[in-house]
Amino acid sequence: MANRKKRPQHSGSGTKVLLVFAVVLFAGIWLTEQVASRGIGPAWLQFLFAADEPTGGLRVGLVAGHKGNDSGAVCDDGLTEASVNLAVAELTAERLQRQGIQVEILDEFDRRLRGYEAAALVSLHADSCQVDFSGFKVANEDGGSEASQRLSACLWDSYEQATGLDRHMTTITRDMTNYHAFREIALGTPAAIIELGFLNADRGIIADQPALAAEGVADGILCFLAPAPGSETPPPQQ
Ligand SMILES: [Zn+2]
Repeated sequence: MANRKKRPQHSGSGTKVLLVFAVVLFAGIWLTEQVASRGIGPAWLQFLFAADEPTGGLRVGLVAGHKGNDSGAVCDDGLTEASVNLAVAELTAERLQRQGIQVEILDEFDRRLRGYEAAALVSLHADSCQVDFSGFKVANEDGGSEASQRLSACLWDSYEQATGLDRHMTTITRDMTNYHAFREIALGTPAAIIELGFLNADRGIIADQPALAAEGVADGILCFLAPAPGSETPPPQQ
């Protein structure tokens, strides 16, 4: 008799345990998705739940200007352009990865640039510390593709909006429009170069608030990859 009474009790508590387990499991999945959708947590988590994003699975290359080669512009106190470029590139990569985008940070003369295929390539640089100019600028290759021009247009708008910096149109040089990586990458890869600002006058933003600069660059790339609904421009195929 004692055994008979115990049996149903056992299976009853077993069901309860299963139920609690199921509730905890679903709550865990729900919570994880909430966390991922807010961009908190590691990149692989974002990637897991970003499959539905229009940008999911796309590949983007970011050249951290001067990385692996030289320091770029240098300020009297030792602040280097290369360190600013890399900090902004890394924060930009994080933002894009949250949208399910695969991001590669490339050296200035990265061997992977030869024939590089991606949905977009953006090179990040900053301007001299020795002048009192302020402002940023974007360029694509002279006679660049329609897609490259669209990428540039997106970067101009988004970076201006995020940082509040002015457009410095008069210092766009041939170093920008004739940038070496433009000639190395695959023909179909849309590409642009951005000078984030001047290391002296714009230091308060590009060096001290790299997340702000990264927001501008990432938003520009996203504007290009996933045009707002109703806009005429189709998203890239790669
Ligand atoms: Zn540079």
